[in-house]
Amino acid sequence: MSDYSTQPARPGVNREELEFDVLFVGGGPANLTALWRLLDLIEAHNRKDNVKKLEGLTIGIIEKGDAIGDHAFSGAVLDPRALAELCPDYMNRGFPSEGEVGREEVWLFTSDRSGIKFPVLPPFFKNHGCHLVSLSRLTRWMAEQIESREVPGVDVMLLPGFAGLNVIWDNNRVIGVQTADKGVNADGTPRNNFEPGNRLMTKAAVFGEGPRGRLAQEIDSVLGLQKKSVNPQVFEMGVKEVWEIPQGRVQPGFVLHSAGWPLPDGESGGSFVYAMGGDRVAVGYVASLDAADPFMDAHHLLQKFKTHPRIAEILKGGKLLEYGGKAMAIGGWYSMPRLVFNGGMLIGDTAQMVNPARLKGIHLGMKGGLCAAEAIMDALTNNDFSQSGLQKYEDDFLSSWAADEIKSYRNFHRTIANGLTPIAGMRLGISMLTKGWLPFGPLKSEPDYARTEAVERFYGKKALKPKDLDRGIKYDGERLIQKLDDLYTSGVIHDEHQPCHLKIIYGDEVCAACWEKYGSPCTAFCPAQVYEMRADTEIPKLEIAYSNCLHCKTCEIKCPEQNVLWTPPEGGGGPKFTIG
Ligand code: SF4
Repeated sequence: MSDYSTQPARPGVNREELEFDVLFVGGGPANLTALWRLLDLIEAHNRKDNVKKLEGLTIGIIEKGDAIGDHAFSGAVLDPRALAELCPDYMNRGFPSEGEVGREEVWLFTSDRSGIKFPVLPPFFKNHGCHLVSLSRLTRWMAEQIESREVPGVDVMLLPGFAGLNVIWDNNRVIGVQTADKGVNADGTPRNNFEPGNRLMTKAAVFGEGPRGRLAQEIDSVLGLQKKSVNPQVFEMGVKEVWEIPQGRVQPGFVLHSAGWPLPDGESGGSFVYAMGGDRVAVGYVASLDAADPFMDAHHLLQKFKTHPRIAEILKGGKLLEYGGKAMAIGGWYSMPRLVFNGGMLIGDTAQMVNPARLKGIHLGMKGGLCAAEAIMDALTNNDFSQSGLQKYEDDFLSSWAADEIKSYRNFHRTIANGLTPIAGMRLGISMLTKGWLPFGPLKSEPDYARTEAVERFYGKKALKPKDLDRGIKYDGERLIQKLDDLYTSGVIHDEHQPCHLKIIYGDEVCAACWEKYGSPCTAFCPAQVYEMRADTEIPKLEIAYSNCLHCKTCEIKCPEQNVLWTPPEGGGGPKFTIG
């Protein structure tokens, strides 16, 4: 097992032990759905006559952000199918819709000035009936709905500001989560305000930590949850700016997607523009992290994208409100791990529940939450939290409409991973007709980092570095915005006394070798400009401005030398998204 202990054990420190019946790790939409539905089920059960009542239960949810919603960030066009199953009258309960999808445009941009608008929408780009949402506002609303309930027999604890650090094991059974210490100096010594992390003991834990969950990786390293998956987990990197624009510039419900320019040939990704409530639009760009280009930079692609006349006319006279970035699961069916194990389950992006063609996973994660709640309810009534006691979750999910949807696009990501080539077009056509089947499938993926090419191989020039690239962008601070100026609007903050949470695993020499061979891709892809290479020292040294970190995990996924370990900083640190 890899060493996942990223803080000193501190023998002798008295760690408070809290007991839970069920502990949700991560305050995203999948876990919030599971908690909400579980409360419904317990309430309904306890109203029945002649059943043994469930009483004295403690159910908790921990979230590393300072508040639920602070770290929630996404496109997002929400397919309401799972939400309607959870809460059929969601529109009457203050659901924070930014508008129902209305006019939709899909473009193939062919250059910085031209493009072809699709006369007919590809089926996976049809979003009628969906809602434009801010994931941050959606998760806050869900947390409010849960907090406002009184369910007899259940004590619900919403615990923001708690970062899960390590899994607590009993042999190969998950029995709890230890949270990170707070009030620690950079050298690991405790400060005056030291608060030891807690031991949160539980009968069942649901890990919905988002993409590349740290605890989920620990569990995988012990239990081999990914062992039978066809492909490793793979990801995209997305950045988004929310803008206020002149009134009436776009109609409520407006949605635009594009492929093509400014993405280099041979890579996959695309853009989106979504009307948000009021006079706001979200404009974003996603790029696959299996890019061969060592200097792939979604922020740079977004700035370039904004220079296209179709986009420039939307943003003209507007101003930036908020910026953020995140990695997103993109593998789907063939990258999904085993979902259950003794004492717990994986859910949402952590389990690659995504439709890569629709670029949607929220509704699939929420369906996972509904299935998880039913299985946990059975486990509570049977007092059986073993893998077999929780197996119903995996069985129900894999036979649900959500799994059908994911499976129908099981080869999609690899089909277009090298761009929209004629072969990709042919494969797309076949898989649309066969609900995802391809001759000679399944198409295999490598880990994203392994597809990064050396600078010389990709650019054909030795010693090129990200800063030497002519990106062709004239930043003006108004429409075209430098990373650090963009970052300022994300509200990111960390206590700067604490140890750096981005660990260089194999040492500076490996970073120096990466600088020579790959030009240090982290200095390009990080959406928060956390990494800078100092080449004026004997051994080039990576400088890490960790307090800027947006917690997107891209560095851990994409570092070609796999030299970065992202660990949770003190709970409460990170971005503070409000409309992301
Ligand atoms: Fe993302 Fe890593 Fe940059 Fe943090 S340091 S914003 S996790 S790429």
